[in-house]
Amino acid sequence: MKVLVINAGSSSLKYQLLNMETEAVMVNGIVERIGEEVGSLTYKANPDTDAEKKIVKKEPIADHKVGMHMVLDLITGEEAGVISDPKEIDAIGHRVVQGGEAFTSACIVDDSVKAAIADNNPLAPLHNPANLMGIDVAEELFPGTPNVAVFDTEFHSSMPEKAFLYALPYDLYKELRIRRYGFHGTSHKYVSRKVAECMGKKPEEINVVTVHLGNGCSMAAVEKGKCVDTSMGMTPLAGVMMGTRSGDIDPAIVAYIAENKNMSVAEVDTLLNKQSGLKGICQLNDMRDIHAAVDEGNEKAKLAVDMFAYRVKKTIGAYAAVLGNVDAIVFTAGIGENDDIARAEICQNLSGLGIEMDMDKNAGRKGEPHAVHTDASKVQVWVIPTNEELQIAQEAVELLK
Ligand code: ADP
Repeated sequence: MKVLVINAGSSSLKYQLLNMETEAVMVNGIVERIGEEVGSLTYKANPDTDAEKKIVKKEPIADHKVGMHMVLDLITGEEAGVISDPKEIDAIGHRVVQGGEAFTSACIVDDSVKAAIADNNPLAPLHNPANLMGIDVAEELFPGTPNVAVFDTEFHSSMPEKAFLYALPYDLYKELRIRRYGFHGTSHKYVSRKVAECMGKKPEEINVVTVHLGNGCSMAAVEKGKCVDTSMGMTPLAGVMMGTRSGDIDPAIVAYIAENKNMSVAEVDTLLNKQSGLKGICQLNDMRDIHAAVDEGNEKAKLAVDMFAYRVKKTIGAYAAVLGNVDAIVFTAGIGENDDIARAEICQNLSGLGIEMDMDKNAGRKGEPHAVHTDASKVQVWVIPTNEELQIAQEAVELLK
């Protein structure tokens, strides 16, 4: 089976074509600045192999349909095509951000599914409408090919009420659907299963704390294969500290800033989403730049890393309490996979919890799953590259079986 995975944003569209017999990536790329004066398209056939062919185009791309059409022309084209007919694509998997309470698993898209996704638009106004647009474009360009929706929230739908409810008037949960949903679910699911495989266990046999540290950061407590708590909340602003997002703060701060800085609530919301986190502390939000600044003696950059690591460490402690017994901790995503300094700082002084990192094994980057704990460590610590596209494609294949 060949599965095309689409992640449509408001002005971008990431895509990947996978051969599910081998799980090889046939094509990947991104269409960006859709609707702007000059758009850009990046296309890679057989990426990361000797046969890689890359094409970059800079031209106006009016809308998502035009962008997807350009991609399709390249996929089936002479220059760097990998198939000859769009009908060779067996399914299209879509990343959908907010599934709300309606979706506890991936599903094949039909009109009622689209309506239910649209019903969640108020909970993810920047994302769900764009994801729906991606589905509409796929339906138009690939008539007859099944579309599968995979939700960022789905893996977290197993959380118990005590974990997903906020201590707010209960009616607000029913009236406005205010509750913790959690995000990055596809990634947490993928790495929690992968670590079980690496440990020679079934997901149902182990408890795992998954630590996804990218531009957005989130963590999950996974008990016997099921998520029982996660750090992001009703929106992806909550939880640990992120590149530009504050993570958890005292909620009273919102009103205090609004009043004292003469800002609207919407402006404060932007400040918490775009000007906070690592960037708020040291003006930089890319961890690589921050480490370079630390090396140059930038104290704010050092403080930002310390705060970042401290909050992740605290949440590991919280999830150790939630799970009672932890078998493994998994680091994933841009920072989790690549940043040995951050990982080391997070895992420092955790031997009381049975977590002992082997600093030699932790050093450097591998690009494949590897263990970084000492032989004596009660809890295993793993670094596992996430693969949300593969997880989405696997779910599409499962559903269509
Ligand atoms: P996104 O959430 O957008 O998918 P990524 O998972 O790609 O983001 O993560 C981006 C983050 O990963 C950035 O903060 C970047 O600095 C960090 N990162 C990538 N490579 C490295 C590296 N070698 N060392 C430290 N941080 C890295």
